[in-house]
Amino acid sequence: MQENIFSLSLDTLGTMLENAGFQKFRAKQIYHWLYVRYVDDFDTMDNLPKPLKTYLKENFTTQKVQICKKEQSIDGSVKYLFATQDNLTYESVFLKMKEDKFTLCLSSQVGCKVGCSFCLTAKGGFVRNLNAGEIVYQVWAIKKDQGIPQNKAINIVYMGMGEPLDNLDNVVSAIEILSTLDGLSISTRRQTISTSGIAPKIKKLGALNLGVQLAISLHAVDDKLRSELMPINKAYNIQAVIDEVAQFPIDSRKRVMFEYLVIDGLNDDLDSAKKLVALLNKIKAKVNLIYFNPHEGSKYKRPSIEKVEAFREFLLKKGLLCTIRESKGLDISAACGQLRERNLKE
Ligand code: SAH
Ligand code: SF4
Repeated sequence: MQENIFSLSLDTLGTMLENAGFQKFRAKQIYHWLYVRYVDDFDTMDNLPKPLKTYLKENFTTQKVQICKKEQSIDGSVKYLFATQDNLTYESVFLKMKEDKFTLCLSSQVGCKVGCSFCLTAKGGFVRNLNAGEIVYQVWAIKKDQGIPQNKAINIVYMGMGEPLDNLDNVVSAIEILSTLDGLSISTRRQTISTSGIAPKIKKLGALNLGVQLAISLHAVDDKLRSELMPINKAYNIQAVIDEVAQFPIDSRKRVMFEYLVIDGLNDDLDSAKKLVALLNKIKAKVNLIYFNPHEGSKYKRPSIEKVEAFREFLLKKGLLCTIRESKGLDISAACGQLRERNLKE
């Protein structure tokens, strides 16, 4: 079977080449073609000897997945639909932030097992994990498509479809491949993993000390409501998650982000804000408020701007950093919680 070249770390590729009788440094040249020049045709890789090109063509593939749809939002963000070789689909969003900054929102799974009641991805259930190559390919293909030079710093957030910590090994491989200096060179400090709070996996990720940023989808300050919104809370409750976060290695200049989905009439009151301040008082935290984005069939409502602003003001007054997430791509269903698997014929 041919191996997806985007799944391989520089080191693994080097070892494979060595085992096949080629020099290890060729791996760096291949990485350079792939990730710096965005060339994925082995025949075009001019500085490689012919036998190596033949070996690569026989044993590796670069075309495992492809972009099959692209939708442009009026706010500049672009949603990409990818298809895997086994004809499953997953989505990624290219976000244009202020001051010419770019963020890519990546998927880590097709579907999701966690089953949060407000999330569209959860509706289709869980299909399968994406492998490292399928995760990396999102960055490669979007950077190439958008004509973003390799040396332009971009941010990665694992906030698309899926629960990244439920697919930890592949996500960690992808982080390593994306951060390789001879390749895309996206510093781990620019990569943020967002999780619904699988406590033992937060511990495992922390132990790897990768330098990645952590975001916790908290959404509620009491266990009853959180369990209603996020069934995972029955296994790892709020305190269990907070305890793990307190142990997590973070860069001294950074903070753990707590995402708080604001839902009309459910968790948008100032009493919840007060509890949130108390809950996070020992953590180097910042809060990111997200407006609930409605989708067909959802029982929840988007909160009013006034309520969200008041919530934020309250946190700020108590000294808790807080931002409100700009909702991007609403017109193309690319906003938070709006990504899902699609029928390829749609
Ligand atoms: N599974 C991970 C990462 C993907 S979800 C996690 O849950 O953290 C990325 C973010 O989108 C999460 O904070 C999630 O709670 C939020 N989200 C899900 N559904 C949403 C919706 N309908 N409106 C707004 N945000 C939503
Ligand atoms: Fe999965 Fe995150 Fe959606 Fe929950 S919010 S179902 S964890 S993708």
